[in-house]
Amino acid sequence: MSSAIQQIAILGSTGSIGQNSLEVIRQLPDRFRVSYLTANRNIELLHKQIEMFHPRGVVILHRENASAVKQAAGGTVEVLTGEEGLMEIVRRDDVDTVISALVGFAGLKPTIEAIKHRKKIALANKETLVVAGEIITALVKQHEAPLIPVDSEHSAIFQCLVGERHSHTAKLILTASGGPFLHTPERDFHRITVEQALSHPNWKMGNKITIDSATLMNKGLEVIEAHWLFHLPADNIEVVIHPQSIIHSMVEFVDGSVKAQLGLPDMKIPIQYALTYPERVYLNGGRVNFPKLQSMTFFAPDTEKFRCLQLAFDALREGGTMPAVMNAANEVAVDAFLRKAISFQHISELIDRAMSHHHSRSQPVLEEIIDADRKTRTFIESVVRTL
Ligand code: NDP
Repeated sequence: MSSAIQQIAILGSTGSIGQNSLEVIRQLPDRFRVSYLTANRNIELLHKQIEMFHPRGVVILHRENASAVKQAAGGTVEVLTGEEGLMEIVRRDDVDTVISALVGFAGLKPTIEAIKHRKKIALANKETLVVAGEIITALVKQHEAPLIPVDSEHSAIFQCLVGERHSHTAKLILTASGGPFLHTPERDFHRITVEQALSHPNWKMGNKITIDSATLMNKGLEVIEAHWLFHLPADNIEVVIHPQSIIHSMVEFVDGSVKAQLGLPDMKIPIQYALTYPERVYLNGGRVNFPKLQSMTFFAPDTEKFRCLQLAFDALREGGTMPAVMNAANEVAVDAFLRKAISFQHISELIDRAMSHHHSRSQPVLEEIIDADRKTRTFIESVVRTL
Protein backbone atom coordinates (compact mmCIF):
# COMPACT_ATOMS: atom_id res chain seq x y z
CA MET A 1 0.00 0.00 0.00
CA SER A 2 1.03 3.61 -0.42
CA SER A 3 2.48 5.00 2.81
CA ALA A 4 0.32 8.13 3.09
CA ILE A 5 -3.04 7.90 4.78
CA GLN A 6 -5.90 8.77 2.40
CA GLN A 7 -7.83 11.78 3.75
CA ILE A 8 -11.48 11.47 2.89
CA ALA A 9 -14.46 13.81 2.63
CA ILE A 10 -17.82 12.06 2.54
CA LEU A 11 -20.55 14.09 0.89
CA GLY A 12 -23.72 12.64 2.44
CA SER A 13 -22.19 10.78 5.39
CA THR A 14 -25.57 10.31 7.10
CA GLY A 15 -27.02 8.45 4.10
CA SER A 16 -26.93 4.76 3.31
CA ILE A 17 -23.74 4.97 1.21
CA GLY A 18 -22.23 7.42 3.69
CA GLN A 19 -22.78 5.07 6.63
CA ASN A 20 -21.42 2.07 4.70
CA SER A 21 -18.39 4.17 3.73
CA LEU A 22 -17.71 5.01 7.37
CA GLU A 23 -17.95 1.33 8.23
CA VAL A 24 -15.28 0.56 5.60
CA ILE A 25 -13.07 3.42 6.85
CA ARG A 26 -13.47 2.33 10.50
CA GLN A 27 -12.08 -1.09 9.64
CA LEU A 28 -8.98 0.29 7.88
CA PRO A 29 -7.62 3.03 10.19
CA ASP A 30 -4.06 2.65 8.88
CA ARG A 31 -5.22 3.56 5.38
CA PHE A 32 -8.01 6.12 5.76
CA ARG A 33 -8.82 9.17 7.81
CA VAL A 34 -12.09 11.10 7.75
CA SER A 35 -11.49 14.80 7.07
CA TYR A 36 -15.03 16.05 6.49
CA LEU A 37 -18.58 14.78 6.89
CA THR A 38 -21.80 16.32 5.59
CA ALA A 39 -25.51 16.03 6.28
CA ASN A 40 -28.70 17.59 5.06
CA ARG A 41 -30.93 17.44 8.17
CA ASN A 42 -29.93 14.42 10.25
CA ILE A 43 -28.06 16.26 13.01
CA GLU A 44 -28.41 13.45 15.51
CA LEU A 45 -26.54 10.95 13.35
CA LEU A 46 -23.99 13.60 12.36
CA HIS A 47 -23.23 14.14 16.09
CA LYS A 48 -22.60 10.43 16.55
CA GLN A 49 -20.34 10.38 13.50
CA ILE A 50 -18.37 13.39 14.82
CA GLU A 51 -17.85 11.62 18.16
CA MET A 52 -16.66 8.44 16.48
CA PHE A 53 -14.55 9.78 13.60
CA HIS A 54 -13.29 13.21 14.84
CA PRO A 55 -13.39 14.95 11.43
CA ARG A 56 -11.72 18.35 10.99
CA GLY A 57 -14.97 19.82 9.78
CA VAL A 58 -18.57 19.12 8.89
CA VAL A 59 -21.10 20.69 6.56
CA ILE A 60 -24.74 20.94 7.52
CA LEU A 61 -26.95 22.12 4.70
CA HIS A 62 -29.32 24.32 6.66
CA ARG A 63 -27.87 27.33 8.43
CA GLU A 64 -30.41 27.15 11.27
CA ASN A 65 -28.93 23.80 12.37
CA ALA A 66 -25.34 25.04 12.50
CA SER A 67 -25.35 26.28 16.13
CA ALA A 68 -26.78 22.97 17.40
CA VAL A 69 -24.02 21.09 15.55
CA LYS A 70 -21.36 23.52 16.89
CA GLN A 71 -22.61 23.08 20.44
CA ALA A 72 -22.61 19.29 20.24
CA ALA A 73 -19.15 19.24 18.62
CA GLY A 74 -17.82 21.33 21.54
CA GLY A 75 -15.80 23.74 19.41
CA THR A 76 -13.37 21.05 18.22
CA VAL A 77 -14.88 20.78 14.75
CA GLU A 78 -15.30 23.46 12.10
CA VAL A 79 -18.94 23.77 11.04
CA LEU A 80 -19.72 25.02 7.54
CA THR A 81 -23.14 25.40 5.96
CA GLY A 82 -24.97 25.29 2.66
CA GLU A 83 -23.90 24.38 -0.84
CA GLU A 84 -20.97 26.78 -0.45
CA GLY A 85 -19.78 24.69 2.51
CA LEU A 86 -19.83 21.56 0.32
CA MET A 87 -17.91 23.36 -2.43
CA GLU A 88 -15.39 24.69 0.11
CA ILE A 89 -14.42 21.36 1.71
CA VAL A 90 -13.80 19.52 -1.56
CA ARG A 91 -11.24 22.18 -2.54
CA ARG A 92 -9.13 21.81 0.58
CA ASP A 93 -5.64 20.34 0.72
CA ASP A 94 -6.54 18.01 3.59
CA VAL A 95 -8.82 16.05 1.25
CA ASP A 96 -7.37 13.43 -1.13
CA THR A 97 -10.57 11.53 -1.89
CA VAL A 98 -14.18 12.64 -2.12
CA ILE A 99 -16.92 10.05 -1.71
CA SER A 100 -19.74 11.61 -3.71
CA ALA A 101 -22.82 10.19 -1.97
CA LEU A 102 -25.41 12.95 -1.92
CA VAL A 103 -28.70 11.91 -3.42
CA GLY A 104 -29.98 13.49 -6.63
CA PHE A 105 -29.05 16.62 -8.58
CA ALA A 106 -27.61 18.18 -5.40
CA GLY A 107 -24.49 16.06 -5.94
CA LEU A 108 -23.57 17.66 -9.26
CA LYS A 109 -21.86 20.94 -8.35
CA PRO A 110 -19.71 19.67 -5.44
CA THR A 111 -18.59 16.70 -7.58
CA ILE A 112 -17.57 19.06 -10.38
CA GLU A 113 -15.68 21.20 -7.88
CA ALA A 114 -13.85 18.14 -6.53
CA ILE A 115 -12.88 17.04 -10.07
CA LYS A 116 -11.56 20.55 -10.82
CA HIS A 117 -9.37 20.28 -7.72
CA ARG A 118 -8.02 16.94 -8.93
CA LYS A 119 -9.40 14.89 -6.06
CA LYS A 120 -9.92 11.19 -6.42
CA ILE A 121 -13.69 10.70 -6.78
CA ALA A 122 -15.47 7.60 -5.46
CA LEU A 123 -18.74 8.18 -7.28
CA ALA A 124 -22.01 6.88 -5.83
CA ASN A 125 -24.15 9.84 -6.93
CA LYS A 126 -25.22 8.44 -10.30
CA GLU A 127 -27.39 11.49 -11.07
CA THR A 128 -24.20 13.51 -11.64
CA LEU A 129 -23.28 11.43 -14.70
CA VAL A 130 -26.88 11.11 -15.84
CA VAL A 131 -27.49 14.85 -16.08
CA ALA A 132 -24.02 16.03 -17.10
CA GLY A 133 -22.11 13.01 -18.37
CA GLU A 134 -20.45 14.83 -21.25
CA ILE A 135 -19.25 17.70 -19.05
CA ILE A 136 -18.06 15.37 -16.29
CA THR A 137 -16.09 13.07 -18.60
CA ALA A 138 -14.42 16.09 -20.25
CA LEU A 139 -13.50 17.56 -16.85
CA VAL A 140 -12.16 14.24 -15.58
CA LYS A 141 -9.89 14.07 -18.63
CA GLN A 142 -8.84 17.71 -18.44
CA HIS A 143 -7.97 17.61 -14.71
CA GLU A 144 -6.77 13.99 -14.68
CA ALA A 145 -8.96 13.29 -11.64
CA PRO A 146 -9.42 9.55 -11.04
CA LEU A 147 -13.13 8.70 -10.98
CA ILE A 148 -13.97 5.23 -9.64
CA PRO A 149 -17.56 4.01 -9.63
CA VAL A 150 -19.17 2.94 -6.35
CA ASP A 151 -22.50 1.81 -7.80
CA SER A 152 -22.31 -1.99 -7.56
CA GLU A 153 -23.10 -2.60 -11.25
CA HIS A 154 -20.50 -0.12 -12.46
CA SER A 155 -17.95 -1.36 -9.97
CA ALA A 156 -18.59 -4.85 -11.37
CA ILE A 157 -18.03 -3.67 -14.95
CA PHE A 158 -14.99 -1.65 -13.89
CA GLN A 159 -13.54 -4.79 -12.26
CA CYS A 160 -14.32 -6.91 -15.35
CA LEU A 161 -12.50 -4.38 -17.54
CA VAL A 162 -9.26 -4.31 -15.57
CA GLY A 163 -6.55 -5.40 -18.02
CA GLU A 164 -8.88 -5.30 -21.06
CA ARG A 165 -8.78 -3.05 -24.12
CA HIS A 166 -11.75 -0.82 -24.94
CA SER A 167 -11.76 -2.07 -28.54
CA HIS A 168 -12.27 -5.63 -27.25
CA THR A 169 -15.45 -4.73 -25.36
CA ALA A 170 -18.65 -5.67 -27.20
CA LYS A 171 -21.43 -5.20 -24.68
CA LEU A 172 -22.12 -4.18 -21.08
CA ILE A 173 -24.73 -6.33 -19.36
CA LEU A 174 -26.26 -4.61 -16.33
CA THR A 175 -28.09 -6.90 -13.96
CA ALA A 176 -31.21 -5.80 -12.09
CA SER A 177 -32.98 -7.51 -9.21
CA GLY A 178 -36.32 -6.47 -10.74
CA GLY A 179 -37.41 -4.87 -7.46
CA PRO A 180 -40.42 -5.75 -5.30
CA PHE A 181 -42.96 -5.57 -8.17
CA LEU A 182 -41.27 -7.89 -10.62
CA HIS A 183 -44.27 -10.24 -10.56
CA THR A 184 -46.99 -7.66 -9.83
CA PRO A 185 -49.35 -7.26 -12.80
CA GLU A 186 -49.37 -3.73 -14.23
CA ARG A 187 -53.12 -3.43 -13.60
CA ASP A 188 -52.33 -3.50 -9.84
CA PHE A 189 -49.68 -0.75 -9.97
CA HIS A 190 -52.18 1.96 -8.91
CA ARG A 191 -52.64 0.11 -5.59
CA ILE A 192 -48.94 0.00 -4.69
CA THR A 193 -48.28 1.74 -1.37
CA VAL A 194 -45.19 3.69 -0.32
CA GLU A 195 -44.47 1.05 2.33
CA GLN A 196 -44.56 -1.76 -0.27
CA ALA A 197 -42.34 0.21 -2.65
CA LEU A 198 -39.82 0.87 0.12
CA SER A 199 -39.27 -2.82 0.87
CA HIS A 200 -36.58 -3.88 -1.59
CA PRO A 201 -35.97 -7.65 -1.71
CA ASN A 202 -32.13 -7.60 -1.67
CA TRP A 203 -30.65 -4.16 -0.90
CA LYS A 204 -31.06 -1.73 2.02
CA MET A 205 -30.70 1.77 0.57
CA GLY A 206 -31.94 5.36 0.86
CA ASN A 207 -35.60 6.07 0.06
CA LYS A 208 -35.10 7.70 -3.34
CA ILE A 209 -33.00 4.91 -4.85
CA THR A 210 -35.32 2.29 -3.34
CA ILE A 211 -38.29 3.81 -5.20
CA ASP A 212 -36.11 4.11 -8.33
CA SER A 213 -35.38 0.39 -7.99
CA ALA A 214 -39.09 -0.40 -7.75
CA THR A 215 -39.87 1.54 -10.97
CA LEU A 216 -36.65 0.29 -12.68
CA MET A 217 -35.68 3.95 -13.17
CA ASN A 218 -32.62 3.07 -11.11
CA LYS A 219 -31.55 0.70 -13.88
CA GLY A 220 -32.32 3.38 -16.46
CA LEU A 221 -30.10 5.86 -14.60
CA GLU A 222 -27.43 3.17 -14.47
CA VAL A 223 -27.61 2.59 -18.23
CA ILE A 224 -26.84 6.29 -18.78
CA GLU A 225 -24.15 6.21 -16.09
CA ALA A 226 -22.55 3.16 -17.79
CA HIS A 227 -22.60 4.91 -21.16
CA TRP A 228 -20.52 7.80 -19.78
CA LEU A 229 -18.21 5.72 -17.63
CA PHE A 230 -17.36 3.07 -20.21
CA HIS A 231 -17.95 4.92 -23.51
CA LEU A 232 -20.34 2.48 -25.18
CA PRO A 233 -23.52 3.48 -27.05
CA ALA A 234 -27.04 2.58 -25.86
CA ASP A 235 -27.23 -0.28 -28.41
CA ASN A 236 -24.29 -1.99 -26.65
CA ILE A 237 -25.79 -1.80 -23.18
CA GLU A 238 -28.23 -4.50 -22.14
CA VAL A 239 -30.29 -4.92 -18.97
CA VAL A 240 -30.96 -8.40 -17.63
CA ILE A 241 -33.19 -9.25 -14.67
CA HIS A 242 -31.33 -11.41 -12.17
CA PRO A 243 -33.44 -11.62 -8.99
CA GLN A 244 -30.73 -13.14 -6.76
CA SER A 245 -28.45 -10.04 -7.10
CA ILE A 246 -25.29 -12.17 -6.94
CA ILE A 247 -23.90 -11.25 -10.36
CA HIS A 248 -23.53 -7.47 -10.14
CA SER A 249 -22.98 -7.00 -13.89
CA MET A 250 -21.06 -8.47 -16.82
CA VAL A 251 -19.04 -7.56 -19.87
CA GLU A 252 -19.21 -9.40 -23.18
CA PHE A 253 -16.09 -9.22 -25.35
CA VAL A 254 -15.71 -9.39 -29.14
CA ASP A 255 -14.75 -13.09 -29.02
CA GLY A 256 -18.00 -13.99 -27.22
CA SER A 257 -16.32 -14.42 -23.86
CA VAL A 258 -18.24 -12.96 -20.89
CA LYS A 259 -16.74 -11.79 -17.60
CA ALA A 260 -18.90 -11.26 -14.53
CA GLN A 261 -18.27 -9.97 -11.02
CA LEU A 262 -20.09 -11.79 -8.24
CA GLY A 263 -20.55 -11.20 -4.54
CA LEU A 264 -23.17 -10.87 -1.85
CA PRO A 265 -25.30 -7.72 -2.12
CA ASP A 266 -23.24 -5.56 0.26
CA MET A 267 -22.31 -2.01 -0.75
CA LYS A 268 -19.20 -2.13 1.44
CA ILE A 269 -17.54 -4.29 -1.26
CA PRO A 270 -17.70 -1.72 -4.12
CA ILE A 271 -17.08 1.18 -1.71
CA GLN A 272 -13.91 -0.44 -0.37
CA TYR A 273 -12.77 -1.39 -3.88
CA ALA A 274 -13.19 2.24 -5.03
CA LEU A 275 -11.09 3.42 -2.07
CA THR A 276 -8.32 0.82 -2.28
CA TYR A 277 -8.17 0.35 -6.10
CA PRO A 278 -5.99 -1.04 -7.64
CA GLU A 279 -5.41 -3.03 -4.44
CA ARG A 280 -7.78 -5.48 -2.81
CA VAL A 281 -7.95 -5.67 0.96
CA TYR A 282 -9.63 -8.16 3.29
CA LEU A 283 -13.23 -7.18 4.05
CA ASN A 284 -15.05 -8.68 6.99
CA GLY A 285 -18.44 -9.98 5.84
CA GLY A 286 -20.35 -12.87 4.28
CA ARG A 287 -19.18 -14.83 1.26
CA VAL A 288 -21.13 -16.38 -1.61
CA ASN A 289 -22.06 -19.97 -0.75
CA PHE A 290 -22.64 -21.56 -4.16
CA PRO A 291 -24.06 -24.93 -3.03
CA LYS A 292 -26.57 -23.03 -0.84
CA LEU A 293 -27.38 -20.63 -3.69
CA GLN A 294 -28.01 -23.57 -6.05
CA SER A 295 -29.28 -21.55 -9.02
CA MET A 296 -29.19 -18.15 -10.61
CA THR A 297 -31.90 -17.01 -13.03
CA PHE A 298 -32.01 -14.38 -15.77
CA PHE A 299 -34.66 -12.88 -18.00
CA ALA A 300 -35.38 -9.81 -20.10
CA PRO A 301 -37.02 -6.79 -18.44
CA ASP A 302 -40.60 -5.87 -19.37
CA THR A 303 -40.21 -2.29 -20.59
CA GLU A 304 -43.95 -1.97 -21.30
CA LYS A 305 -44.68 -2.57 -17.63
CA PHE A 306 -41.61 -0.71 -16.34
CA ARG A 307 -41.84 2.35 -18.60
CA CYS A 308 -39.11 4.21 -16.72
CA LEU A 309 -36.43 1.90 -18.11
CA GLN A 310 -37.54 2.57 -21.68
CA LEU A 311 -37.73 6.32 -21.00
CA ALA A 312 -34.13 6.27 -19.80
CA PHE A 313 -32.96 4.51 -22.99
CA ASP A 314 -34.93 7.14 -24.97
CA ALA A 315 -33.31 9.97 -23.02
CA LEU A 316 -29.83 8.53 -23.56
CA ARG A 317 -30.44 8.20 -27.32
CA GLU A 318 -31.82 11.74 -27.51
CA GLY A 319 -28.89 13.10 -25.45
CA GLY A 320 -28.29 16.80 -24.75
CA THR A 321 -30.50 18.15 -21.95
CA MET A 322 -33.01 15.26 -22.17
CA PRO A 323 -31.42 13.07 -19.47
CA ALA A 324 -31.40 16.07 -17.09
CA VAL A 325 -35.11 16.62 -17.78
CA MET A 326 -35.85 12.94 -17.21
CA ASN A 327 -33.89 13.02 -13.97
CA ALA A 328 -35.56 16.19 -12.66
CA ALA A 329 -39.04 14.85 -13.43
CA ASN A 330 -38.15 11.61 -11.70
CA GLU A 331 -36.84 13.38 -8.58
CA VAL A 332 -40.01 15.48 -8.28
CA ALA A 333 -42.28 12.48 -8.98
CA VAL A 334 -40.51 10.19 -6.49
CA ASP A 335 -40.68 12.89 -3.82
CA ALA A 336 -44.42 13.35 -4.52
CA PHE A 337 -44.97 9.58 -4.33
CA LEU A 338 -43.10 9.40 -1.00
CA ARG A 339 -45.37 12.22 0.29
CA LYS A 340 -48.34 10.16 -0.94
CA ALA A 341 -49.38 13.00 -3.28
CA ILE A 342 -49.38 10.76 -6.38
CA SER A 343 -49.70 7.04 -7.15
CA PHE A 344 -46.86 4.71 -8.16
CA GLN A 345 -47.91 4.60 -11.81
CA HIS A 346 -47.96 8.41 -11.97
CA ILE A 347 -44.16 8.40 -11.69
CA SER A 348 -43.49 7.14 -15.23
CA GLU A 349 -46.41 9.18 -16.61
CA LEU A 350 -44.93 12.40 -15.22
CA ILE A 351 -41.47 11.64 -16.61
CA ASP A 352 -42.98 10.85 -20.00
CA ARG A 353 -44.86 14.13 -19.89
CA ALA A 354 -41.76 16.15 -18.99
CA MET A 355 -39.76 14.55 -21.79
CA SER A 356 -42.49 15.08 -24.41
CA HIS A 357 -42.74 18.72 -23.32
CA HIS A 358 -38.98 19.36 -23.71
CA HIS A 359 -36.94 20.24 -26.81
CA SER A 360 -33.50 18.89 -26.10
CA ARG A 361 -30.44 21.11 -26.51
CA SER A 362 -27.37 19.25 -27.72
CA GLN A 363 -23.98 19.62 -26.02
CA PRO A 364 -25.36 21.82 -23.24
CA VAL A 365 -23.15 23.86 -20.95
CA LEU A 366 -23.66 23.50 -17.20
CA GLU A 367 -25.96 26.53 -16.95
CA GLU A 368 -28.27 25.03 -19.61
CA ILE A 369 -28.44 21.78 -17.65
CA ILE A 370 -29.23 23.65 -14.43
CA ASP A 371 -31.88 25.65 -16.30
CA ALA A 372 -33.47 22.50 -17.80
CA ASP A 373 -33.50 20.91 -14.33
CA ARG A 374 -35.13 23.96 -12.71
CA LYS A 375 -37.78 24.43 -15.42
CA THR A 376 -38.69 20.75 -15.38
CA ARG A 377 -39.10 20.79 -11.59
CA THR A 378 -41.42 23.80 -11.79
CA PHE A 379 -43.43 22.19 -14.60
CA ILE A 380 -43.81 18.77 -12.95
CA GLU A 381 -44.56 20.29 -9.52
CA SER A 382 -47.42 22.22 -11.17
CA VAL A 383 -48.70 19.02 -12.82
CA VAL A 384 -48.51 17.15 -9.48
CA ARG A 385 -50.77 19.78 -7.89
CA THR A 386 -53.47 18.97 -10.44
CA LEU A 387 -53.44 15.20 -9.83
P1 NDP B 1 -29.63 8.59 1.24
O1 NDP B 1 -30.94 9.26 1.02
O2 NDP B 1 -29.58 7.45 2.18
O3 NDP B 1 -28.53 9.66 1.70
C1 NDP B 1 -28.36 10.87 1.04
C2 NDP B 1 -27.34 11.73 1.77
O4 NDP B 1 -27.31 13.02 1.18
C3 NDP B 1 -27.66 11.97 3.24
O5 NDP B 1 -26.46 12.22 3.94
C4 NDP B 1 -28.50 13.25 3.19
O6 NDP B 1 -28.50 13.95 4.44
C5 NDP B 1 -27.78 14.01 2.12
N1 NDP B 1 -28.62 14.94 1.35
C6 NDP B 1 -29.85 14.69 0.87
N2 NDP B 1 -30.30 15.75 0.15
C7 NDP B 1 -29.32 16.67 0.19
C8 NDP B 1 -29.19 17.99 -0.33
N3 NDP B 1 -30.15 18.56 -1.08
N4 NDP B 1 -28.04 18.65 -0.10
C9 NDP B 1 -27.05 18.11 0.65
N5 NDP B 1 -27.13 16.88 1.21
C10 NDP B 1 -28.26 16.16 0.95
O7 NDP B 1 -29.09 8.15 -0.19
P2 NDP B 1 -28.20 6.87 -0.58
O8 NDP B 1 -27.02 6.80 0.30
O9 NDP B 1 -29.08 5.69 -0.73
O10 NDP B 1 -27.76 7.25 -2.06
C11 NDP B 1 -26.78 8.25 -2.31
C12 NDP B 1 -26.41 8.20 -3.79
O11 NDP B 1 -25.76 6.95 -4.05
C13 NDP B 1 -27.61 8.26 -4.74
O12 NDP B 1 -27.24 8.95 -5.88
C14 NDP B 1 -27.87 6.80 -5.08
O13 NDP B 1 -28.49 6.65 -6.33
C15 NDP B 1 -26.46 6.24 -5.07
N6 NDP B 1 -26.36 4.81 -4.78
C16 NDP B 1 -26.85 4.34 -3.60
C17 NDP B 1 -26.78 2.99 -3.29
C18 NDP B 1 -27.23 2.46 -1.96
O14 NDP B 1 -27.02 1.27 -1.67
N7 NDP B 1 -27.85 3.25 -1.11
C19 NDP B 1 -26.21 2.03 -4.26
C20 NDP B 1 -25.67 2.65 -5.43
C21 NDP B 1 -25.77 3.98 -5.68
P3 NDP B 1 -29.60 13.62 5.60
O15 NDP B 1 -29.33 12.20 6.03
O16 NDP B 1 -29.29 14.60 6.63
O17 NDP B 1 -30.93 13.78 4.95
